[in-house]
Amino acid sequence: MAYINHRLFLLILGSMTKHTILKKVFGYSEFRGNQGAIIDHVLAGNDALVIMPTGGGKSLCYQIPALIGEGLAIIVSPLIALMNDQVAALKQLDVEAATIHSNISDTESRQIFADIQSGELKLLYVSPEKLMSDGFLKYLLNQNVSLFGIDEAHCVSIWGNDFRPEYVKLSALRNSFPAVPIIALTATADHATQQDIIRQLDLGKTKTFLSSFERKNITTRAKSGQKRMEQIVNFVKTHPGESGIVYCLSRKSTEKVAESLEAKGFQAAAYHAGLDPMTRRRVQDDFQTDTVKIVCATIAFGMGIDKPNIRWVIHYNMPKNIEGYYQEIGRAGRDGDPAEALLFSSWGDFIQLKRFIDDSPNEGFKVVQLAKLDRMWQFATASSCRTNMVLNYFGEFINNNCGHCDNCLHPPKFIDGTVFSQMALSGIIRTREEVGINLLIDILRASYKQEIRSRGYDQLKTYGVGRNISFQHWQHYITQMINQGIIRIDYTDHSKLKTTPLSGPVLKKEVMIQLTEFVSHKEQKEREKNAKKIKKEVNFSNIDASLLARLKSWRTQLARAQKVPPYVIFNDRTINFIASSKPTSPDDLIAIDGIGPVKLERYGDAVIEIVTSK
Ligand code: ADP
Ligand code: ZN
Repeated sequence: MAYINHRLFLLILGSMTKHTILKKVFGYSEFRGNQGAIIDHVLAGNDALVIMPTGGGKSLCYQIPALIGEGLAIIVSPLIALMNDQVAALKQLDVEAATIHSNISDTESRQIFADIQSGELKLLYVSPEKLMSDGFLKYLLNQNVSLFGIDEAHCVSIWGNDFRPEYVKLSALRNSFPAVPIIALTATADHATQQDIIRQLDLGKTKTFLSSFERKNITTRAKSGQKRMEQIVNFVKTHPGESGIVYCLSRKSTEKVAESLEAKGFQAAAYHAGLDPMTRRRVQDDFQTDTVKIVCATIAFGMGIDKPNIRWVIHYNMPKNIEGYYQEIGRAGRDGDPAEALLFSSWGDFIQLKRFIDDSPNEGFKVVQLAKLDRMWQFATASSCRTNMVLNYFGEFINNNCGHCDNCLHPPKFIDGTVFSQMALSGIIRTREEVGINLLIDILRASYKQEIRSRGYDQLKTYGVGRNISFQHWQHYITQMINQGIIRIDYTDHSKLKTTPLSGPVLKKEVMIQLTEFVSHKEQKEREKNAKKIKKEVNFSNIDASLLARLKSWRTQLARAQKVPPYVIFNDRTINFIASSKPTSPDDLIAIDGIGPVKLERYGDAVIEIVTSK
C-alpha cells in the first residue's frame, strides 16, 4: 500500500461506516455482542452506560465513534499504564492517538497540542485530574470535542468497588459540554452502582448496555486447598510457556510460592505492595512483555495489567468476596482464547478472612462483608454449576449449566452420607462440642495424638469409627455437612464444631444426607487429562509448532525494538491463526482476524517470508 497523506486518511475515515472501520482499521470481521448498537447510539449523539465484562471489547465502543466523528475524542482513564498501552496499540494501526499525564515531557506535550490544533489527533487519553484542571478544561471548550469516554466509570461511585475521589470532579463535565456525548464504561457495577454512575455523570438521553458477564472462554475450577503447592506445580507443568498469575492473601506467601516455582525450574516473580516501586514496575513490565511468565501476587497486582494473553489465574487462597474473585479471574483470556481459573480454599482461609473482617470497628460493614464471605465460601464448595452462582450473584438470573466449570464438565457423584454424618455428629456430642474439625477427624480416625489421650477421647464410643476413611475424605465430607447446616462452626468459640436444629433428625435417621464423592489426587489428574482434550478441540487444530516458535521470536524482537508489548504487534490469537493457516499471500493475510490493511502493509512481507522459509 502506498503511503497516504494523513489528512486524506482522516477524511477517508470520517466517511467510512463502522463496519468498514472495524475491518480496515482493526482487522476484525464482526462486532461482538452490543458493540455495534452502542456505536450507533453514541454516533447519534446520545450518552451511554456500557457494562461489559473484562475482555468484552469496551475500547472499540468509543474508538470507532472517535474515528468516525469530527473532532477530538477525550478518553478518561485512571491509570497511566492503561493509557500508554491503548495509545501504543492505536499507533500500530496508524491511528493518531496520544496521552497527557504527569509523566510526559514538555516537548511531547507541545507536540500533542500542535496535533490537536491541526486536527490530526483523533483520540486523547487523559487522567481525570488533568481533564478537570481549570486550564485544560478552558482550552477544550475552544476545541471541537467529538465525545467523552469515561473508562472504569465505577470509580465515580462510592457504591462501586474502587471509588476514586478524583473521578467525582467529572460530574461537572456535562455542564461544561452539554452537547457532547458521554460514554461511560465499566466491567464491574451492580445495579446501585449503575444508577449512581448515571446520576454522578449526569448522563442525559442515556441507555444502559448490559452484556452478559459470562466469560465463556474461562474454564472455572475450585478445589480444596490440601497440598496446594503440589497441585500448582502439576498445573503449571501442563501449561508450559503460558502466562499466568497466582493470587495469594499475604506478601509472604507470594514470595514463598514464587520461590517454590523457581525451585522447580519455572520462571516466576513475586509482586506485592511491600516491594519498592522500581521492583514493582520491573515485575509488571517483565510480565507485560512476556519476559516473566508467572507472577505470584497479592491483589495489589491487577488494575494496571491490560495483558490479553494471560492464560490462567490461580487463587492460592480464597478471596474475600465474589466481586474480587470474578474481577481477578477476568484478567485471564481477554483475547477470547481458552483460559483457566483455579481456586483453592480451606477452612483456614475462611477463618483468616473472617478475622480480618471481625477486626473492623464498623458493625454495618462487618455484616455485609461477612455475608459476602459466606457467598464466596458457598461458591468455593458448590457442587452445582459455578457460573450460574456468579451470574445470579450479579443479578443476571439464569439457570443453565454453563458447560465450562468443573461441576458441569464432570458432575460430582453423590453418595449416601447419612452414616458419615451420624458418626461426625455423635463425635461432636460425645466431646461436648469442645473440638474443631481436625481434632474431630483425629478422633474418628483413631489417632494416637497426645491431646486425644490426655483428654480421654480415646475412651469415647466414637473413637475410631471412621478409621477406614482418609483424613482428606473426612475434611471434604464435614465441610459439606457444615454447608448443609447439620453442623455449625462456632467462630466465637475457637471454631469448635456444634450441633444445630437440623442435627437431631439426622441422628434419628429421619432424613437422608447426600454428599458429593471425594475425588482423589489420581482421579483429579485423570480429569485434567480429559479437560485438556476438550481444550484442544476448541483451540486451533493444526498449529505448526516450529512456525509458531519462529513467529513468536520475530514478534518479540520487533516488540523490543519498538518498545511495545508483543501483543500490540499481533495478539496470540492472530499469531496462532497464522501458524495454523499458513498464509502465503496478502489476500490470505487480510482474511485473518486481527490483520487490517495497516498491519498488512507493516508486517505482511515479513510474515509471508517467515511462513514460506523453512
Ligand atoms: P475490555 O476493555 O472490555 O476489557 P478490550 O477493548 O481491551 O476489552 O478488548 C479485548 C480484546 O478483544 C482486544 O484484544 C480487542 O482487540 C479484542 N476485540 C474487541 N472487539 C473485537 C471484535 N469485534 N472482534 C475481534 N476481537 C475484538
Ligand atoms: Zn457450569
